[in-house]
Order: sequence, then structure tokens, then C-alpha cells
Amino acid sequence: MKNLHLILAYFAIVQLSVAQTNIHFSNQIAAIVLDGNYNLGDYEGIVNVTPQKTSRLIEQKINADSLRSYLERMSQFETRNSGSDTLSVSTGIGAARTWALSRFTRISEENNNRLVVSYLNWEREICGMDKHKNIVAILPGSAVDAANTPAGIVIIEAHFDSRCATSCDVECAAHGMEDNGSGSALVLELARVMSKYQFDRTILFMLTTAEEQGLNGAIAMADYCVDNDVEVAAVLNNDVIGGVICGATSSEPSCPTENDVDSIQVRLFSSGTIFSQNKQLARYIKLQYDQELRGLVTVPMQVTIMSAEDRTGRGSDHIPFRQRGFAAMRFTSANEHGNANTADANYHDRQHTSDDVLGEDTNNDGEFDTWFVDFNYLARNAAINGNAANMIAQNVCQPEGITMAQTDWKTLKVTLSEPSCEYSEIAIALRTETNDWDTVIYSSTLETSFDVALGFTYFVSAAFVNEMGVESLFSEEQYQDFVGLDEPNMVKTGIELLQNRPNPFDETTSIVFIVHEMPVNAEAIVRIQDINGAVIYEQKTPIRLGANEVIYDHGYGRTGTYMYSLVIDNQVVDSKKMVFVAN
Ligand SMILES: [Zn+2]
Repeated sequence: MKNLHLILAYFAIVQLSVAQTNIHFSNQIAAIVLDGNYNLGDYEGIVNVTPQKTSRLIEQKINADSLRSYLERMSQFETRNSGSDTLSVSTGIGAARTWALSRFTRISEENNNRLVVSYLNWEREICGMDKHKNIVAILPGSAVDAANTPAGIVIIEAHFDSRCATSCDVECAAHGMEDNGSGSALVLELARVMSKYQFDRTILFMLTTAEEQGLNGAIAMADYCVDNDVEVAAVLNNDVIGGVICGATSSEPSCPTENDVDSIQVRLFSSGTIFSQNKQLARYIKLQYDQELRGLVTVPMQVTIMSAEDRTGRGSDHIPFRQRGFAAMRFTSANEHGNANTADANYHDRQHTSDDVLGEDTNNDGEFDTWFVDFNYLARNAAINGNAANMIAQNVCQPEGITMAQTDWKTLKVTLSEPSCEYSEIAIALRTETNDWDTVIYSSTLETSFDVALGFTYFVSAAFVNEMGVESLFSEEQYQDFVGLDEPNMVKTGIELLQNRPNPFDETTSIVFIVHEMPVNAEAIVRIQDINGAVIYEQKTPIRLGANEVIYDHGYGRTGTYMYSLVIDNQVVDSKKMVFVAN
């Protein structure tokens, strides 16, 4: 993953001004499939009795030894730095990319050529190299409407490139096993086990490059999707997903203590709090795991919804997709070996060093006997990805309009507008103050009332459930203050500006304001000033009744205390302090 210390931050900002160019697939069929122009019969796969059965089969077929073999093979390239050798057949990014492409091709051949395998070529000067390639395998879905418009695709991805302390050191040994051989192996393994089956949505398996120099490969793919009107339903990004050992350092929110082991928890990072399709995606992934797999598997995992988009000062490939309006999240192991602060002379963790290897030979017999990537843990995380992708790829239609009302002192009524598609049930997700939903309630009618407690703010969203019992992705959240009707003092008036979350923050924070009564001008400005009053940023935002959210992203490397204000009709409604921190 990206190290956001100051020198890199400078490069990242400089690079943002130069876009990737000449983004195109090496295999023309990849572009055609993403356009929806294909014969479904050419890509027919197995449809199981139920989608739940498919999830179970995916989970059972994911193989820890297979994951290990991919990692062992990747380590032989010595480095996968994006500026490393492209001519050698045995070492460097060129040989590594060729192997990954051939791996996808073999998987496709084993599955009736159902995968469309291609490089995504793109150009940008990175570490002295102008031309770069992501490696992709596309599993065409069956949901194409009469106008050949495909349903939004599901992207399962990981960055394939590796690095040492200096991001453009192309000579050092950079096996990059935890970061991010682990995620790359997971993507390959899911391509292997999922490409037998037929899904409604197209699934795109992708290994990106040049993530370590500023998320470049993901930017190329996200730009491709925007430029070519490829709708993306969900992005599942896996970065640092196989290690279970806590290093002496690790980025906040950190793991407990050095050498702590956690092999039963995975963290889901995503941007936003309320109204966030990214957070809704993370909640959905957890819900699906808890419903479909958790009770059936040998080692149940704890899926934890994190509040921030990433660990403090860090970032990964989900961000460019989120920035372009696609729902995107990141899977990361509970414990990671290091915060990548290689500038610190005392840093002795593995991340972003030549020590990020697969394991250790403790008895000097020439073979690793202890492993830094836990292959069974990695397999469990692959199953969580596979289950989520399968459920999203069922393409269950999503509710559009939800309204909420407090009908008496203990009843909340939720009403969905008449849908244009068939459904058998409605799932209503409710939460108050936590990142995750508190509960999901199932109802057979468009209007549902339930008892709630006073004094809370309720966030409600809904999904349709199809006849197979699969939930659609959930709608955007709605919001309701639940107050006693005979307690007028509890009814708030005007507009409240809340404290930003998280705070202090590294690069992105959420600013929420609550509108209890609509002002005349339905537009606000969120203004950010330094302590001398100089305006450093302004963002206009439309206002709606209830909670409003502005995501503020200050970029890398800025620190200090700032003020943010909500301005309506040239009047400052309220101001609060916010603190930027950088690692
Ligand atoms: Zn990484």
C-alpha cells in the first residue's frame, strides 16, 4: 500500500495533475464484453440450485495450498516494482505480469474459456517507465437487457506491484508477500473457483500495478469505466489481507501489541458515514457473510466495519473508484506487520521492505517452516469476498424511494415506493450510532411499522429480497430523529453543524449538518479556513431536510488545526475546529 510520508505526498500531488493516457485493453473482446455486446451462449456456466449453494461451493473450493502456490510463484520474480525489469523472463514486473496473464488464461481454459483475459494498458511516467499494464479476467454475466445494456459489474481486485523503502527502488528484493501478494493470490483463486458458475452481473477480476506510486492502475481502470460508460455496482479491493502477526508498528487504528496474532478477524474500510454507498456496501458484505457462511464454516470470521476509508495516512485502490462515484471498499487483515514508516531508523517491521517475504527458515534446512502469510486465513478472506461478489452479482433490483415517519411515541413507519420490479420480501436495515446496522428486519409489505426507543436518531435503508432469499444492495440511508411527541423541548429547530468524523484525520473526513427546518436558499457552502482566517477550501452543496454530508479530502501531507464553517445565504451558521494529521 501507499506510504504517505511527505516525500511521497509531494509526488502523489504532482502526479495527480497528469492523467493516465491511452487506456485500452490488449484484447479487444474485453472492451466488447464490458459494452454488453456478446452472445450469452458463448459464456454459459453452471447455475446451482440456489445462490446460497454457489456461495458454499465457492467457500469449499477455495484452497489454501493453491493460494500458497501463487505466493511462492510470485516471490520468485524477486520484485514486482512497477519500474522494474520488463525484459527478463524470470524476474521483475514484466515476467510477473506475463505469469499472471498466463495464470488467468489457464483458469479460463479449465472452465470452457469463460474468462476474457486481457491486459489493461495505460501510460504515465512512473519510476522511469512510461507504459504499464493491469492484468484482468472478465467473467461475462447473463444480465443484459434488450438494449444490450449490461447490469453494473462487480470488480474484485488487488494491487500486484511491490516496493521497498524507496518507492522507485527497482533493484531491491521486493517480494511483497503480505503487501500485496496476499491480495493478488486471493484474486487469482477467486477467478479459479468462481469461473465455473454463471452470475447475472459481469465479474471483473483485476490485478493493478503502480498502486505504490499513487493508485495508478486503479485510476486507469476507474477512468476507463467513466470514459466508456461501464457501470460499476461494487469494487472489492484486497490489500494486505493474508498476514496475522502484529508488527512493532502499524498504522492507526492499530493492532494490540507486537507479535499479537489475529487470524479470525478482517477489517472492512470504506468512505463516508451517512448516505454512503461505500459504507452500505461494507455493511452488505458483512450481512451476507453472517447470513450465508458464518454458521457453516469450520472457522467463523469476525467481519469488522471500520469508520474510516483506510488506516490513518494510508490509502489503496478503492479510493479512485469511490472518487468517481462507484461503491468501493477495502479488505485488510486485522493485524499488519508495520506502518511502512521506513524513514524511521528504528523501523524493523516487514511492510515496504525486503523483509516482506513469505516466511522464515528457522532451522536452517533451506525450507520455510514458519509463514508470514497465513494461507488458511487468506482462504477465509477469499470466501468472504466470493460470497459477497456472488450475492451482488445476483443483480436483485434495488428499492428507489423510502420515506420515514414517526407515527406515535414508539412507532417508526417506513414506506417504500411501488417498485418497477418483482420482489418477494423487503429487508429494512436500522442503525443508530454504530458503523454497522443494528438490525435487519424482514417484511412482506411496502409499509412497515416497528417499535423503537426514544432519544435516538435512526438511520434506515432498505433492500428487496428475491424469491431465492437474496438481498439487493441496500438503498441510501434515510434519517429520522425519534423524539417524544409530548416533549416539545426535544424537537430541535434550525440547522446544526456536527463535529467532523474522524477527527483528527489524515486525508478524508466527513462533515455532517442537520437541517431541521429548510432555509430559503437550498444551497450551503462548507468553508475551510486556516487559523489566520485564510480560506483554503470551499465546497457548495445542496441542502435537504435531515442530515447532509460533505466529504472533505485535503490530500496528503497537510497538518495543523483548521476551522470549518457552514455558510448559508452569506451567513455563517456555525464553525468548528478540525485537525489534520499526517504520517
Ligand atoms: Zn498495498
